[in-house]
Amino acid sequence: TEKNVIMDETAIRRALSRIAHEILEKNKGIENCLLVGIRTRGVYLAQRIAERIKEIEGIEIPYGELDITHYRDDREAMDRTVVNSNLTFPAGSNGIHDKKVILFDDVLYTGRTIRAAMDALMDCGRPRMIQLAVLADRGHRELPIRPDYIGKNVPTSKHEQIEVALTEFDGKDEVYIISN
Ligand code: 5GP
Ligand code: MG
Repeated sequence: TEKNVIMDETAIRRALSRIAHEILEKNKGIENCLLVGIRTRGVYLAQRIAERIKEIEGIEIPYGELDITHYRDDREAMDRTVVNSNLTFPAGSNGIHDKKVILFDDVLYTGRTIRAAMDALMDCGRPRMIQLAVLADRGHRELPIRPDYIGKNVPTSKHEQIEVALTEFDGKDEVYIISN
């Protein structure tokens, strides 16, 4: 097993700064935008982008978190029938109706998690638009899903894996590629 660093703390900070600017540019500000992190690490990415946007624009952007465990379409049929969005927002935000929702996840692979996340979102209302931000895109999509914002493109083989460490959860900021 070989483990190599592909993003250090500085690279992660710069990528997230760039994504914050890209979000502001693409949306011409952040009016009606809502950040939704997919647990676990996507939530910290959404939080950090919200902080960065506050530094740049001086505006608080609401963020929520989504647990999509029971929406994976490749899980057992029994799990699939569980319909519980687990979408949580801070008090004061008014849900997702007519909002531009920006989804955050750490790693994008087949796209099935994001498809499930979109299903869960749609169950909560009708967003005006959904965008996708990921820290690492490792390829191998099985659905027609592509991210709007990418920290780093990491071409991988199916035998390789990406490990994401974020300070809030893992005590340090680092992204590795692991080859077996
Ligand atoms: P997908 O549903 O696109 O196949 O996989 C994406 C989800 O699985 C993400 O929530 C991500 O956290 C996790 N995932 C898939 N592949 C990897 C990987 O190589 N490394 C990490 N850290 N997570 C992965
Ligand atoms: Mg995940």
